[in-house]
Amino acid sequence: QSERARLLRGKPGATKDGVPVALLANVGKPEDADAALEHGAEGVGLFRTEFMFIASSQSPSVEDQTKAYVELLKHFPHRKVVIRMLDAGADKPMEFLTPDDEPNPALGLRGLRTLRAHRQVLDDQLEALARAHEQTDADLWVMAPMVADEHEADFFVKLGRARGIEHVGAMAEIPSIALMADEVAQVADFVSIGTNDLTQYTLAADRTLASVGSYQTAWHPAVLRAIKLIADAGKKHDMPVGVCGEAAADPSLALVLVGLGVTSLSMAPVALDDVRANLAEHTFEEAQQLASRALAGEFYPQRTDE
Ligand code: PEP
Ligand code: MG
Repeated sequence: QSERARLLRGKPGATKDGVPVALLANVGKPEDADAALEHGAEGVGLFRTEFMFIASSQSPSVEDQTKAYVELLKHFPHRKVVIRMLDAGADKPMEFLTPDDEPNPALGLRGLRTLRAHRQVLDDQLEALARAHEQTDADLWVMAPMVADEHEADFFVKLGRARGIEHVGAMAEIPSIALMADEVAQVADFVSIGTNDLTQYTLAADRTLASVGSYQTAWHPAVLRAIKLIADAGKKHDMPVGVCGEAAADPSLALVLVGLGVTSLSMAPVALDDVRANLAEHTFEEAQQLASRALAGEFYPQRTDE
């Protein structure tokens, strides 16, 4: 890792010509906050709450959840922390939520679908988030995983707002939400694109299966065009659009995402230095030029000789 990348660590993410791009961390438990701050994260862009309770046989209590959320939030006073509702199902089954007889679990009950089928779990988590929000002064944003369209986004946004949460959003991981982006941008406070699942569902290739692993890349122009639909809707309706999937951790792809109009990037803390350094080396116009080449398919399939 370059010296230059480390020197930039204390600086907020931005292109060479000063267009800000918030660089945030993906975390799986409150203790990950230290690593995030150490690597210069400006906040948290994705807290995968399901990992804390993945081994539980019962749904977590409001008290246990509140404790965990306060623990994370108190590390980020006045900074943005995006907490994702439990994303149970598919590759992350939870005993108390996920049916065990689904022939095709990636297309089954998961994410927001699971929570709607278990309203008490959904309500308890929102209650815990509202309590944690009251006890800390972090800038709390809450989002639902696997949202299909504006109706589901609206359902969740209303529930979150009723609990006093000001920033309530939807993850874009299903191609349908990209196609409905204009409508979604009129109801959601923000959208965060989960490129891992968006790629899996756009290319119909199971993200956990090595035999179709070559399809699992957001460099595919179809995935980039889906992202562009969301970024364009965000710009039109003044709605922030972030990326919190693996794509954000690839320094070149991160630049493409910025060129497409994405305004924040969230990734594993170890990836932050290199992404920050690559953004600082290119202007926003260069990012846009790179994005149009990528949209045209110039970098897919990826060549290994350049
Ligand atoms: C994604 O799908 O890109 C994402 C960030 O969520 P997860 O990897 O937890 O499914
Ligand atoms: Mg996902």
